[in-house]
Amino acid sequence: MPTILVSGGAGYIGSHTVQALIERAFKVVVLDSLITGHRGAVPSQAIFYEGDISDAELIGRIVKDHQVEAVIHFAARSLVGESMLKPDLYFYENTAKSNGFISTLLRQGVNKIVFSSTAATYGVPEEMPISESAKTEPINPYGASKRMIEQSFYWLEQAYGLKWIALRYFNAAGASLDGSIGEDHTSETHLIPLVLKTALGQREAISVFGTDYSTPDGTCIRDYIHVVDLAEAHILALEALEKDLESGAYNVGTGKGYSVREVIDMAKKVTGLEIPVLDASRRVGDPDILVAKVEKIEKSLGWKAQHSDLKTIISTAWQWHKCHPLGYE
Ligand code: UDP
Repeated sequence: MPTILVSGGAGYIGSHTVQALIERAFKVVVLDSLITGHRGAVPSQAIFYEGDISDAELIGRIVKDHQVEAVIHFAARSLVGESMLKPDLYFYENTAKSNGFISTLLRQGVNKIVFSSTAATYGVPEEMPISESAKTEPINPYGASKRMIEQSFYWLEQAYGLKWIALRYFNAAGASLDGSIGEDHTSETHLIPLVLKTALGQREAISVFGTDYSTPDGTCIRDYIHVVDLAEAHILALEALEKDLESGAYNVGTGKGYSVREVIDMAKKVTGLEIPVLDASRRVGDPDILVAKVEKIEKSLGWKAQHSDLKTIISTAWQWHKCHPLGYE
């Protein structure tokens, strides 16, 4: 089996993808700075390097020593709010460093890359569900920093023959089915972990950001995708690159959305606990509804969400949070 280098493999989506690669008998090398990732999230079967994607000497050594054939590139900052406050950090960490990383890889003869992108590349969509051909006008530096890398791929393909697939994630959620790994962000901002931390009594209440949106119950609707399904999409993308499928961007979602209230109600059901709710004002930059069109990935990569019903997402996340109330520690 070929060796796959996974940058950011100690992060949330990265670690679930590493687990899936190992289950399929790929050889896996993880490179992670551990600034936001967790060493404990990386399975022992993966070779681990603590380091930065900007370290060209280290990347060169890894590619040579392990005969890396393809890369899945997760390593990035991923907080929309933080990106609004520190856009320069996001353009440096996500755009400049990724560009340097990819150019080092190309110099080393590695020309296949699966890239961790985001629905935030779309901005405020004009159509719903959103298809990959919709205009991409990000409304925050996080989305813009990822969009610029997607755009660079087009030119790198023409100049150097880079083969690439960018996966535009909708709302990643849930935890591994065996309960071994899950979501652990130092400053958590995402709805599902915050709801479950409230159920655990670690927070007093869950704030609902906006109750006057144009949706049936007035709260925002999002397309939640189970992290295990997301991991599977990366494997299919790798296999597609091996088979020389055309490069491009793919949505990864379910095509079905749930409102903030529906998420909280399901969490109450799954945990059997009272979850205090506080209606709050809107968060800046939240569109009413974000739901993916998923025909492209289903047809071209043969991918289909298997674990992304809301009950499975919240049950697996709950299992993780209950057993790891302090995360990886
Ligand atoms: N949300 C909320 N309360 C929270 C966190 C999030 O009401 O404490 C809402 C947020 O406004 C959005 C949805 O939950 O409509 C999903 O937000 P999240 O931050 O999980 O993901 P995003 O859609 O921003 O990527």
